[in-house]
Amino acid sequence: MSTDLGGFSHEELAKIHRDHLWLHLTNHKLFEKQEPPIMVEGQGVIIKDALGKEYIDGLSGGVWAVNVGYGRESIVNAVCEQLRRLPYYAGSMATPPYILLAQKLASLLPNLPKVYISNSGSEANEKSFKIARQYFREKYPDKDKYKIIYRDRDYHGTTLAALASSGQRERKAKFGPLPEGFAEIPHALCYRCHFGKSYPGCNLECARALETVIQKEGEDSVAAVIIEPVTAGGGIIPPVAEYYSVIREICNRYEVLLILDEVVTGFARTGLMFGHQHYGIDPDIITMAKGLASGYMPISATVARKGIFDQFLVEAEDVSGYFRDISTFGGCAGCSAAALENIKIIEEEKLAENSAAMGKYLIDNLKELEELPIVGDVRGKGLLVGVELVEDKKTKRPLSEKLLAQIVADAKAEGVIIGRMVRSVPGHNNVLYTAPPLIINREGIEKIVNAFRVALGKQKL
Ligand code: PMP
Repeated sequence: MSTDLGGFSHEELAKIHRDHLWLHLTNHKLFEKQEPPIMVEGQGVIIKDALGKEYIDGLSGGVWAVNVGYGRESIVNAVCEQLRRLPYYAGSMATPPYILLAQKLASLLPNLPKVYISNSGSEANEKSFKIARQYFREKYPDKDKYKIIYRDRDYHGTTLAALASSGQRERKAKFGPLPEGFAEIPHALCYRCHFGKSYPGCNLECARALETVIQKEGEDSVAAVIIEPVTAGGGIIPPVAEYYSVIREICNRYEVLLILDEVVTGFARTGLMFGHQHYGIDPDIITMAKGLASGYMPISATVARKGIFDQFLVEAEDVSGYFRDISTFGGCAGCSAAALENIKIIEEEKLAENSAAMGKYLIDNLKELEELPIVGDVRGKGLLVGVELVEDKKTKRPLSEKLLAQIVADAKAEGVIIGRMVRSVPGHNNVLYTAPPLIINREGIEKIVNAFRVALGKQKL
């Protein structure tokens, strides 16, 4: 890979960066002391920075999106061809790739054959809330079933309602008042069981808490519960096997829609095409984004049961009975073309199988690091893996944010980019994580494991 900075020197780009850029999720104070990282090229699982240094991308584009890896000419060609033919047409008019993407997604999830396309994961979740609320308002005009229940530690997005439905307090802290109508249930992390119990003798209290909250909020007022099948940004939390059958049964009993946020877990990230398929449950709505077009284009989807969609079929004179919602760029023809080609690659190259096999190899190897005094818990599914770090294994006090940052920097020096989730709230989790492109092979996994080993081994408490 050559390093082409578009005619700028690295110093020039770094200066413009410092002068003008306001990055996502970033404390810019950092860049007073260190160079801002600038990524310029990628090929396969390798990413190269503006200084010419190459890394294994253990984060699939920073936020677990680039499932098929970098340098996919066929996606680029599919997008270019579509942009030349017709880049865009929106509103009530469709384009061929938009139509075919809906068909493709429906074939992957036959129980959810109605497909609503938008631009980002947050939007896909907002749409799911709007669909759930209006669905019940059409179905039961005399009731007001509108509340959304969410879990501690799950994340559902940046827009205010998506944020209100997120269980990460530190992300919400400064943005209130947030929309009302949201209620929280505990997380499903056995390592730090909210109820102080141990699986399997716990009666799955974390799942049963859904019923308690529905009753507390009033069963006629609850529309939906939203859950990440495997919590990603809140600490990589795969629930135990029976968790979702308890959740589904409670949803059925109280007629509450089960929305699964597969924004991260979709498209083979966890070793099956969708994360919920590990648990054999049947959700009412699924949202998806990142791996849908692997970051080559921005696109997301909200897919629903036919029975939900049918509730929105109204006579022409009813101007608010259909789903009165639009995203200007939702269904963009170029984005749809990218998603279609991306899914084709995932299927043809059997990336779900590779994600399962390489994920197992990764977790088995990282588990050996549990011998280290600061490694509290290694967990994950497929290529979505977290290493929870503690100062002390007995108290489970989280390892400091500063040390986590140092470990990430040490891993980078070993040529591997990994991430850290810091919550630094007492009793919570500070976790290192990796989610490489799903094309990674054993050699790549060994390099990631080695970087963890070296970087963690350097830490002296
Ligand atoms: N849901 C989950 C599970 C996510 O991890 C994210 C983003 N990290 C979102 C929703 C929001 O997606 P976006 O940033 O595309 O709006």
